[in-house]
Amino acid sequence: MALKYVYFFGGGQADGKADMKNLLGGKGANLAEMTSIGLPVPPGFTISTEVCTEFYKNNRTHPASLAAEVSANLKKIEDLMGKKFGDPANPLLLSVRSGARASMPGMMDTVLNLGLNDTTVKGIVAQSGDERFAYDAYRRFVQMYADVVLGMNKDTLDHLLEQKKEERDVHFDTDLTAGDWKDLVGQYKAAIKAELDIDFPEDPQEQLWGAINAVFGSWMNQRAITYRKLNNIPAEWGTAVNVQGMVFGNMGNDCATGVAFTRDPSTGENYFYGEFLVNAQGEDVVAGIRTPQPINRAKDNGNGDLPSMEEVMPECYQQLVQIREILEQHYKDMQDIEFTIEKGVLYMLQTRNGKRTAPASIKIAVDMVNEGLIDKKTAVLRVAPSQLDQLLHPTLDPHAKKTVIAKGLPASPGAVSGEVVFCADEAEAEAKTGRKVILVRIETSPEDIHGMHAAQGILTARGGMTSHAAVVARGMGKCCVAGCGEIKVDYTNESFTTVTGQVVKKGDLITLDGSKGEVMLGVVPTVSVQLTGDFAKLMGWVDEFRTMKIRANADTPHDARVARDFGAEGIGLCRTEHMFFDAERIAAVREMILSDELEGRERALAKILPMQTSDFIGIFKEMKGLPVTIRLLDPPLHEFLPQNEKDIEELSKTMKVPVKTLKYTVESLHEFNPMLGHRGCRLGITFPEIYDMQVRAIMTAACELVKNEGFSIVPEIMIPLIATVKELSVLKQNAVAICEEVIAAYGVKMEYLIGTMIELPRAALTADEIATEAEFFSFGTNDLTQTTFGLSRDDAGKFLPFYIDNGIMDEDPFVTLDQAGVGQLVKIACEKGRSTRPNIKLGICGEHGGNPASVIFCHKAGLNYASCSPFRVPIARLAAAHAALS
Ligand code: PEP
Ligand code: MG
Repeated sequence: MALKYVYFFGGGQADGKADMKNLLGGKGANLAEMTSIGLPVPPGFTISTEVCTEFYKNNRTHPASLAAEVSANLKKIEDLMGKKFGDPANPLLLSVRSGARASMPGMMDTVLNLGLNDTTVKGIVAQSGDERFAYDAYRRFVQMYADVVLGMNKDTLDHLLEQKKEERDVHFDTDLTAGDWKDLVGQYKAAIKAELDIDFPEDPQEQLWGAINAVFGSWMNQRAITYRKLNNIPAEWGTAVNVQGMVFGNMGNDCATGVAFTRDPSTGENYFYGEFLVNAQGEDVVAGIRTPQPINRAKDNGNGDLPSMEEVMPECYQQLVQIREILEQHYKDMQDIEFTIEKGVLYMLQTRNGKRTAPASIKIAVDMVNEGLIDKKTAVLRVAPSQLDQLLHPTLDPHAKKTVIAKGLPASPGAVSGEVVFCADEAEAEAKTGRKVILVRIETSPEDIHGMHAAQGILTARGGMTSHAAVVARGMGKCCVAGCGEIKVDYTNESFTTVTGQVVKKGDLITLDGSKGEVMLGVVPTVSVQLTGDFAKLMGWVDEFRTMKIRANADTPHDARVARDFGAEGIGLCRTEHMFFDAERIAAVREMILSDELEGRERALAKILPMQTSDFIGIFKEMKGLPVTIRLLDPPLHEFLPQNEKDIEELSKTMKVPVKTLKYTVESLHEFNPMLGHRGCRLGITFPEIYDMQVRAIMTAACELVKNEGFSIVPEIMIPLIATVKELSVLKQNAVAICEEVIAAYGVKMEYLIGTMIELPRAALTADEIATEAEFFSFGTNDLTQTTFGLSRDDAGKFLPFYIDNGIMDEDPFVTLDQAGVGQLVKIACEKGRSTRPNIKLGICGEHGGNPASVIFCHKAGLNYASCSPFRVPIARLAAAHAALS
C-alpha cells in the first residue's frame, strides 16, 4: 500500500488529531481536532510535513502517489460543500496555507480564493449575487498568486491599484466598483505577461499545484530561515500544507473575520480577548491596515468608541463564547483562535496554544490550577524557563518624572529607552555598534524581524494587539507599544510627530512602557520587578518538584542578598579577585604583585587581609549558614597592573621604588597567552603567601561569626585551574595548616571543605586521582569550554557568529553547554570523582549554570547543584524542576 500523505477533515470527522503536529503541523492537527470535537470548521485536507521533506530531498518534486490522494480528498471537500472545483456555475474556492510544527506567524506563504478564473468568477457572481465582491475576490487572488507563486514584484500591482484609485478620485479600496476590479484583473494579468512573459494560469488544477509548491517553497524563504534561527526550529521539520474550502468574511455587513485569545495574552487575565473586522477578509485583522474592533467590552483595548462584536453580532458572539469554553476545557490551555463569519454563520479557521508574555504565562498556569483545569506539575511545565527572563526585566520607576508624548496599545510589557530609528536594517546596524535603539514603524512586517530582534523595543503607529508587531514582540519578550495612532510617522524625513505637534527625530531618545502603552520623551529611570503573588506561588511549586539545588555566583554582600531573594540556596562561586579591584585596595594589590621580595609582598598582603576578612563576614552573614564556596585568586596578575603613567608614579611613591624599575617589572609580567599562563593554582604554587592570606581571611571571618554570633558555617575553599593532583595536594596542605591554625586560635569547632574547579580536560580525565584530595568539584565550564575547544573566551566573538550563521555550530558553546564534548568530560569527571570519593559534592559554576538546556543536562549528569548569576536563579530553579519532571 502506498504511504498516506494527505489527511482529511470535515463533516465532524478527521483523519488527524491534535497530537499529530509533527506530521500535520500545528494548524493541520488542530483543524482536525476541532472538526472531531464538533466545532464548525470548513472542510479541507492537510498534506503532511513528510511531503515537504521529500520535496527538498527530491529536487522539488512530490511522491508519485500524492496527486491521486489530493484529487480524492478534493472530491470530499466538494461533496461536503456542495460545490465543484473549477465548475463554471457553482465553483468551489480554496485556501492554501502553510502550517509547521511550531507556529511561525506570517513567515510563510498563503494563497486565498484559489480556483478563480474568467469563467468561475461568473459562478461566484451568481452564487453571491454580488458582482463587486466576486471581482474583488478575483483581483485579490491574482495579486496574491502573482506575489507568492509567480514571484512577481509586489509594487507593480500595488501601483496599478493606486493608479486606479487616483483615476477614480477615491481614497479607499472600498470605493472602487465591480467594473474597476474587473478592469484591474485585466491590467494585473497584462502586467504579469509583460514582466514575467507568462500567461496567468486559468486552469484551477494548475493554480492549486502552483500554490502547494509555493507554500512548500516558502519554508526556505529568508524570513522563515531567520525566524527558525531565532527560535531554534530545525530546518528538517518542514511545513505541512492545508487546503481548505474558502469561507468569506467580506461578503457584506453580515460577514466578519477576527482573531481572539481565550484569556488576555498580555496579562493572563481570565476574560475573552479579541478583535474583529466587519466585512473583511482573512489577513486584514492582523495586517494592521484597518483598526480592528474589540469582540466585547471587557476591556476597551484603547478602541473604546468602536462597537464590539457582542453588540453588532450578538448571536455569533454567544456561539464564540461557547466555543471558547469548549476549547479551554478540551485543550486545557489558553487558545489563540481565528474565525470568520460568512452571512451570519460562524466558522473556526484555527486554534493553537496562544503565545503569551511571561507574566501572563504564570498567571494562566496558576489560575488554571486554581480552576482545577490542570495540576501543579502541568503548571510548572507550562512556563518556559527562558521566559522568566522577561519577568526579571525592569519596569518604570513609579516615582520618576515622565513626559508622556503619545499613547498606544500595551502590546508587550517591559520598560526600555533608546534612540529612535525608522528601519529594521538600521536598528540592526546601530545595535551592532552597542547602541540602544527603539524601532519605530508605521506597522511591522515579517521583513522587519531582524530589526525587531536587535531593538530594545518597538513602537508602531498602526495595528492592534494582534498585529504582527504585537505578536512577534511578545514572543520575543520585547517591550512593544503598538497601534499608536497619535503619532504620524514620516519615513522620508526620518521623524514622527505627535498630536501636539512635537517632532521626534532619528537619534532622539525615547522611553516605551509596554505595560501601559505609553511613549515618553528622554530616558525614564526603571526599577526591577517585585517577585511576589502568582510568581512566588509558582516558584513554590517549582521547589517542590526540583531535586537539584540552585546556588548563585556572588562576590559581594549585596549580590548575596539579591541571590537569596531570588531563592539561591548558597553561593556556588565567589570570585575573590573582584574584591581586589576596589579603589581602596587596588594600590595594595599592585604593591603585592610588583614587590620582588617576599617581605614586600607580605607587607602588602597584610594591608589586604582585614579588607578580605570583612568582605567574607558580610557574605557569610547574608547567607545565614547556607553553603558558600569561595575561590582563591584566579586571574593572571597582569590584569591588576597599573596601565598609565600616573598610576605608576603614585605606586612608585608608596613603594619607594623608581618608576623605571616598576615599568620593567610590569613589562616582565607580560604573557603571550595569559589564559593559559601564570594564573589559577599556578599563582598559589609560586606565591603561596597570596593563598595563605585568602584562606586566613575566609577562616577568620567564619570563626568570628561562629564564635561571636552563633552562626554555623562550613566554608568551602575552592582552588582554581587544577591540572594535576599534585598541585592540589600541595595547596591543600598549605590551606589545611592555616585553617587549623585559625580554628585553634579561636578555640571553636568548625568543619570546612577544600575542593577544586574542574576547568581543564586533564583534570576531568584524572578526576579519580584529583578526588582523592578534593572534597568537592565545581565545573568551571567557561574555562572548560575554552580549553576543550581550544577556543579563546575573549576572541571567539570575532568568528563564532559566522560559525553559527553558517550552521557550522548550532549554538554558542559559551552560552549552551556543548553536551557532546564538554558535557562528556563533565560526565567522565563525575563518574571518576565518585569512584574514589563516593560522597563528593558536585556542582557547576560556569555561565551555563543559568542556561535552561544546560541546567537540564546538569540534573541528568547527577550534579548536586548549579550556580548562576543572581538574576538567573529563578530560571535555573524552573529549569531544574522541568528536568526533574520530564
Ligand atoms: C569558569 O571558568 O567556568 C568559571 C566559573 O570561572 P571564570 O569564569 O571566573 O574563569
Ligand atoms: Mg574559570
